[in-house]
Amino acid sequence: MGEQIIALTDLRNTSDVPAIPANQPPPSGLLADALGRPLRDLRISVTDRCNFRCSYCMPKEVFDKDYTFLPHNALLSFEEITRVAGLFVQHGVSKIRLTGGEPLLRKNLEVLVGMLSVMRTPDGIPLDITLTTNGSVLARKAEALKAAGLKRVTVSLDALDDAIFQRMNDVGFPVADVLGGIDAALQAGLGPVKVNMVVKRGTNEHEIVPMARHFRDRYGPAVILRFIEFMDVGATNGWRMDDVLSSAEVRRRIHDVWPVQPLDPNAPGETAERWRYQDGRGEIGFISSVTQAFCHDCNRARLSTEGKLFTCLFASRGHDLRPLLRGGTSDTNLAAAIAGVWSLRGDRYSELRGAGVPLSQGDERRVEMHYIGG
Ligand code: SAM
Repeated sequence: MGEQIIALTDLRNTSDVPAIPANQPPPSGLLADALGRPLRDLRISVTDRCNFRCSYCMPKEVFDKDYTFLPHNALLSFEEITRVAGLFVQHGVSKIRLTGGEPLLRKNLEVLVGMLSVMRTPDGIPLDITLTTNGSVLARKAEALKAAGLKRVTVSLDALDDAIFQRMNDVGFPVADVLGGIDAALQAGLGPVKVNMVVKRGTNEHEIVPMARHFRDRYGPAVILRFIEFMDVGATNGWRMDDVLSSAEVRRRIHDVWPVQPLDPNAPGETAERWRYQDGRGEIGFISSVTQAFCHDCNRARLSTEGKLFTCLFASRGHDLRPLLRGGTSDTNLAAAIAGVWSLRGDRYSELRGAGVPLSQGDERRVEMHYIGG
């Protein structure tokens, strides 16, 4: 296949325990980073394991039978996750996305959903709790997740053609089972369902129009297909700019068949640009972090499986909250530590890369996406 797979340097130990700043004001929900960006969205990776080996995310050559995943006692417990999430909510987070790895591999995930769903923002508003999944066990889990308080799901699916999809997930997983998961989610009331398709030039680009046709014709506005540019996350997926098919090109191919027009964002800091079919058959989205960086209003923090806080998807270093969580630190001090990290945040990796600024990371590699959560 000619793909270059880079051996993994284990970055999971590369982190600092954040200091607890003196004189930190109590959370006001108005926390802003060094570039004035608020904190609104928390992505929580609940497991670093996945049952797929997508070449662009967890290539089999690296994540093989010899790869050591985190031991169970390293993972944050549901109680620890809920405690940290509550502090983030006090700082302004109103949306939580559970991810991974494959989040539905974490046993009894619906229990965590239930614990998070009783939380309220300081204004008394329920949180927007969502989940990103490869859909492999969604058909079995959809009802319980909905009953526990999950609002919506995003399902990843890169092709409708079984041969292409199975080559991309690299474990021979069939398309039909993912489609069954999408149907089950809709039936359970977890819609509209977003479907994420990572587009790789020369790999699944011929699936763009068939995917659009399938979802618009069968579901209309109940499913929103989003095209994601292949990103240079992590250090193992052999990313090359030549493999990126820009969102502009994807949109052109769709527009040639079904004309589309732009829509306003639903909320500031949204990752996907929204477009609608002019014939009223629903909406599609484009996530263009390579060709159109959206760092300027990025309001997302990521909590890794074992409690490291990452302030950018492309970071190489996390801030380890677990020693504080397990070391008797009070909520007040933990909230202050989180505020200290966020208020110093100046990350804008994709913008700098897009502007051609050299991004030397010393000998540190970017952390893997399955570990900090997509
Ligand atoms: N296992 C879950 C899933 O498959 O949706 C959640 C984790 S996965 C890391 C989250 C999302 O990241 C998926 O939609 C996946 O396709 C996307 N993703 C992973 N690596 C990527 C890359 N290099 N470029 C673009 N998207 C990527």
